[in-house]
Amino acid sequence: MPDVAAPTTTELREIKCQSCGSTLVAQRSMLATICPYCASPSVIQRPPSQDRPTPEFTIGFEIDHTKATHLVKQWIGDAHFFTRSDFKRSAPDLIHGVYLPAYLYGAVADSSYSASIGENYTETETYTTTDANGKTVTRTRTVTKTEWRKLHGQHSCYVVDVVVTASKGVTNEALEAIEPFDLRALRRFTPALVSGWLAEEPSRGQNECFQMAHNETVAKVGNQLKQFMPGDSYTNLQFQSQLSREVIDLVLFPIWSFAVRYAEDKPPVQILVNGQTGRVGGQVPTSAWKVTFAVLTVLLLIGFIIVLFASQ
Ligand SMILES: [Zn+2]
Repeated sequence: MPDVAAPTTTELREIKCQSCGSTLVAQRSMLATICPYCASPSVIQRPPSQDRPTPEFTIGFEIDHTKATHLVKQWIGDAHFFTRSDFKRSAPDLIHGVYLPAYLYGAVADSSYSASIGENYTETETYTTTDANGKTVTRTRTVTKTEWRKLHGQHSCYVVDVVVTASKGVTNEALEAIEPFDLRALRRFTPALVSGWLAEEPSRGQNECFQMAHNETVAKVGNQLKQFMPGDSYTNLQFQSQLSREVIDLVLFPIWSFAVRYAEDKPPVQILVNGQTGRVGGQVPTSAWKVTFAVLTVLLLIGFIIVLFASQ
């Protein structure tokens, strides 16, 4: 059997999108002339840069082109009532399988926190009321009251599997919409694994990605602390986290990127499909007319009810 040579760097080209700023690497034979993320035609080609960061891990595609298209059509069909009708009728046209660069982050979070913890207790109180015969009587009832006490403490935990985008073509919100990925399928990156696909280079700076990862981590710590609060209720939870033993790895995630053009005068809508799980995400354009119509209907109904009651 002949050896299959891995693609050499001379066969690779870079496409740089002037519109959204993403940089993609592809074999010469499959170069795109339109940006797979924003459908902009303003892409330029150039030889690949030499100092490309090497991804640590990747996940393979499980969902093929046909399945992804089917899922997107279904998703568009199921979009909520206020979606523009021309969007619901439109067919997703521009489709690319892309390996999206993202950072996988984990750290130990040591936090000091303070909160007010509420403990409920019941009390029997007496009150006066008038009974059925119009007589004033004294009765008792059980009421629940809350006693508040201050709580301070230290909390340590591991936060793992924080994923943040490293691509300018895909926002962190857009990536979150198609998460999670099953990270048990992570494999150590080799160029052969992504051969035949568009693969993007990180186009967001590492500082920006670090900041996003930190913010997500602190939000996760906050959620853990909320679970951890004793008592029946709490208020005023405040905490400061110190992150240490940070691990950050560049990972290529499989995604299908669709551009849906639904109106001449509007930019195409980006819809992403998780290439591993098939989860679809995107921002559907709402119809101003449908929203106005719904608001007017509700107002008319309220007006009608008021008139109905006033006339009685
Ligand atoms: Zn673009």
